[in-house]
Amino acid sequence: MDYISTRGQAPLLDFERATLRGLADDGGLYLPSSWPVLSHDEMHDLQGHSYPDLALCIIEKFTGDCLPGEALRPLIDEACARFRHDAVAPVKQLDDRLFLMELFHGPTLAFKDYALQILGRLFQHFLVRRSQTCTILGATSGDTGSAAIAGLKGLPAIELFMLHPHNRVSGVQRRQMTTVLDDNIHNIAVEGTFDDCQNLVKSLFNDLDFKTAHSLSAVNSINWARIAAQVVYYFRAALALGAPEREISFSVPTGNFGNVLAGYVAKKMGLPIRKLIIGSNENDILTRFFETGSMERRDVRTTLSPSMDIGISSNFERYLFELVDHDSDRLNGFMHEFQENGRFEVGRDLLARARQDFSAYRLTDEDTRKDIKTTFDATGEIIDPHSIIGVSAARQEGFSDAPVVVLATAHPAKFPEAIRSALGFEAPLPAQLADLFALEERCAHLPDCAASLKRFIETTLA
Ligand SMILES: *Cc1c(COP(=O)(O)O)cnc(C)c1O
Repeated sequence: MDYISTRGQAPLLDFERATLRGLADDGGLYLPSSWPVLSHDEMHDLQGHSYPDLALCIIEKFTGDCLPGEALRPLIDEACARFRHDAVAPVKQLDDRLFLMELFHGPTLAFKDYALQILGRLFQHFLVRRSQTCTILGATSGDTGSAAIAGLKGLPAIELFMLHPHNRVSGVQRRQMTTVLDDNIHNIAVEGTFDDCQNLVKSLFNDLDFKTAHSLSAVNSINWARIAAQVVYYFRAALALGAPEREISFSVPTGNFGNVLAGYVAKKMGLPIRKLIIGSNENDILTRFFETGSMERRDVRTTLSPSMDIGISSNFERYLFELVDHDSDRLNGFMHEFQENGRFEVGRDLLARARQDFSAYRLTDEDTRKDIKTTFDATGEIIDPHSIIGVSAARQEGFSDAPVVVLATAHPAKFPEAIRSALGFEAPLPAQLADLFALEERCAHLPDCAASLKRFIETTLA
């Protein structure tokens, strides 16, 4: 299986190199040159198989010769063993037509665990095989950092440096990062904002001497292997609800377009998906696109669903590449316009095609609180401020005879303030995290300064 860059100027890579590379050298995103397809019979045979069996079957189609089944299987088994629910991604019925897939049974209580538990093990496997090590550097406003730390801790080929803005992440989110005391995990609280943290990371990646000297790499959401791992749970839910004999829709709270893109990939692989429904918070660049055909950057606002507070949906580039039938010149035109003017427009035909796959809705903070309350009153379920946006989007889409699976992306205990403001009480932390506030923390504090960060990394590694 070959991987191509959306921008058309980077070399073709195999799965191993595309995983380790992350962003392509031409600034584009890697994706398979063609979609692997599961036949109706293959899907039928997979009904009732365990989550690891299904994950093996799906992910193997993407790894190809790089990582045959015998080598992939133990990585998947180890990753799945870190989840607290035997079903890994259990599906619950919410009302007559809506189902909730709970993607929060991993170590950090949010869906990013599904990708990062696998990605960490893939990195470790590939690096050992090449007799290499690497230094992963990232910045987080919350969920990504803890999921990356949980996915990479204890892996001997990897050192992880994770920056977060000092006093600007929640107590639960900070402790999920700083209470991990493994030798290869290095938390850094930066005196500044999340944007400052991201700029520090960028400036170190742009320092090519430093980058090469320490084999700097990233595990952010544009890494193809993360998308591949997320495709699995779409198959899981749909097969459980009657696919391939029956069509299923999905409703997905998303900002960066990463999670819902995995649904699109599942559809291209043959899963009968009727509609992919997108839910945005007030940072609604995606919803505005599907309404108008214009992708237009605006300032980011802080909302009750912080993990969807983004200004740009970076994974949308992969879908746009599909929309223009892999015409990199045309794609580069759009991306150039966006870079220059903060907007681009796709025209009526492409928009009409995009709307066949997706529909998109938004939810304000006020309605987020309201919907958490009405859903709790009607069903007894406490739904976190991200997942409720998926529930609401499914309801705004209105009736269809296909059942809708809402992706519940976080456990409500991760966002205690939002739940308290909607319900007047908090959701309890699951038993295994109940002692989170009693554990020892370890974290360095640094000023917003690239030279200090470099020095810190150099001394730590030496
Ligand atoms: C990261 C995250 C999202 C958004 O994911 P995308 O990559 O933007 O699709 C939604 N909910 C939670 C809880 C998250 O952590």
